[in-house]
Amino acid sequence: MIEENVRRILEGLPPNVRLLAATKGRSVEEIERAIDAGVNLIGENYVQEAAKKYGEIKKEVEWHFIGHLQKNKVKKACEIFHVIESMDSLKIAKELEKRCGSMGKIMPVMIEINSGREENKSGVFPENAIGLADEIVNLKHVELVGVMTMGPAVEGEEIRKYFKITREIFDSLQDRYGVKYLSMGMTDSWRIAVEEGANIVRIGRGIFGPR
Ligand SMILES: *Cc1c(COP(=O)(O)O)cnc(C)c1O
Repeated sequence: MIEENVRRILEGLPPNVRLLAATKGRSVEEIERAIDAGVNLIGENYVQEAAKKYGEIKKEVEWHFIGHLQKNKVKKACEIFHVIESMDSLKIAKELEKRCGSMGKIMPVMIEINSGREENKSGVFPENAIGLADEIVNLKHVELVGVMTMGPAVEGEEIRKYFKITREIFDSLQDRYGVKYLSMGMTDSWRIAVEEGANIVRIGRGIFGPR
């Protein structure tokens, strides 16, 4: 099932779009099956859960952090992840600068956009994204590489406008700083996200089944 799902999704994706398997709550065995079927990028939401799996998964794969990063988890995150997709504050960016700096590492980050302007969600409001980017690019051990969004829980086509908002920010940051990744679209919305320019889609249930 996992194998079949991965193959079907990969077949449906244009060649420039990367598939990220969203693996929160999934076992090492499930994740390794997805990797064997062709997944080369996984996304974890919790540093502690990722650390445990990181110790057990020996297969070659790129690790992205897609959850809400807390200051006291930044050091561990620097050790595990290749990219932080969910950067939404200068405070955390500066902590990454400090922690990754002392490891001699440069951490690629993406700014998470709260495209639906929802009060209790993470991400920066669209109007604050460029300002945060202008600060992040001054850091030496943090490299701005893209933009990510979840978008609100809406039905069908309604998600498109939030992807468009995020795409506009991506375009501005591409002009300004040459960023390359636009991460948006999940199990129910990835086709629309790809139409709106996503080049990373993050899929959980569509690969592993219901949570
Ligand atoms: C869980 C999760 C996904 C995947 O969601 P599905 O609906 O299971 O495809 C994508 N992005 C983030 C940030 C997530 O937490």
